Amino acid sequence: MSKQIFTGNFTQQEPIPEAAIAAAVDVMRSGRLHRYNTAPGEAGETAQLEREFADYTGAKYCLAVASGGYAMGAALRALGVQPGDKVLTNGFTLAPVPGAIASVNAEPVFVEVTDSLVIDLDDLSAKIASSGSTVLLLSHMRGHLCDMDRLMEICDAAGVKVIEDCAHTMGGAWNGVPSGRHGLVGCYSTQTYKHINSGEGGLLISDDEEVMATAVMLSGSYMLFGKNGAAPPVDTFENVKYVTPNVSGRMDNLRAAILRPQLADLPAQIARWNALYRAVEEGVRNTPGLQVIERPDAEDIVGSSIQVLLPNASPDAVQAVVAGCGARGVELKWFGAAEPVAFTSRYDSWRYAPAQSLPKTDRILAGLLDMRLPLTFSVEDAKLIAEIIRDEVMSALPQAAE
Ligand SMILES: *Cc1c(COP(=O)(O)O)cnc(C)c1O
Repeated sequence: MSKQIFTGNFTQQEPIPEAAIAAAVDVMRSGRLHRYNTAPGEAGETAQLEREFADYTGAKYCLAVASGGYAMGAALRALGVQPGDKVLTNGFTLAPVPGAIASVNAEPVFVEVTDSLVIDLDDLSAKIASSGSTVLLLSHMRGHLCDMDRLMEICDAAGVKVIEDCAHTMGGAWNGVPSGRHGLVGCYSTQTYKHINSGEGGLLISDDEEVMATAVMLSGSYMLFGKNGAAPPVDTFENVKYVTPNVSGRMDNLRAAILRPQLADLPAQIARWNALYRAVEEGVRNTPGLQVIERPDAEDIVGSSIQVLLPNASPDAVQAVVAGCGARGVELKWFGAAEPVAFTSRYDSWRYAPAQSLPKTDRILAGLLDMRLPLTFSVEDAKLIAEIIRDEVMSALPQAAE
């Protein structure tokens, strides 16, 4: 029998919904694309998006910005991180996270990952103590949430403030609390590959008046902050407005118009993502030599990507799996590759940060495979993809089956 081939495209997202296209056309017809360019009595798409996202997450305040990276940089700055300060973050994450730390001239201190792909809380405690850092930029990388209750206990006890990078967890939750609502600030991305798509864009939420007022001023609100959709009361800005620089990074009404209908659809989209995720997970489970990442009951997942581990495979064997799957149309990303490729890079390739050694993370990333699950795939597609992965792992790691 000839080998089955998958012909879908792993970077093809769904089209923007018709309602969003219509809303975008309305904004263009109005000519009022700048968020503060509103007609008398008009709320503006950006302000409305802020109100709706605050309601969706249960946060008091929300600010829409130009990117997820911008949201994280603004959050760090709003928390008072100074040049040279150390900021704790995950050793397993993507480039915009240490990049946000570097954007305020602070220094990333990387924390190990566990084989559940979450931050290692023992190493976090150790590094809080050894670094003296008082800020954690916690990345929920690839949607995996750690025990958020324990993490907050550790950080609260040590006086460490938490900023959550929710680029991969918009719509996720831990013990029923939405991702982004445990820490002081939650940051989200609306870039094309995330859960709602405006090409570029970001959202920042918080219950803290002063932090949010500072972030609003930083984003470039001038003295128009009263027009924001979910900002703190105007008297909060009384001192903040004189001492906060304008580091322009606003969202515009066109992007907000595209996002609002997508936010309304998000719960339905999450159910579709999770159906794809569970189909791949079931299809590859019990493959000799392959470990699925078991998701805790406390976690509400958004399965927009899936990761598996080949814990004992040699680099050559992992490469054989990646190549074998690739030849059959299944695009896997390997976090163990020596050189950064496309979107995938590793802590040791961010050489602007002081060199650090994370032996546990190295061991886990050496066997980590990662795959996107765009909603243009069907559950049948997901089953075929799983079959191909299973097949290729079994032929590349025959000894694991013995
Ligand atoms: C995409 C992403 C971000 C934010 O990215 P932007 O492209 O700046 O919106 C942050 N963290 C992670 C882990 C990401 O993948």
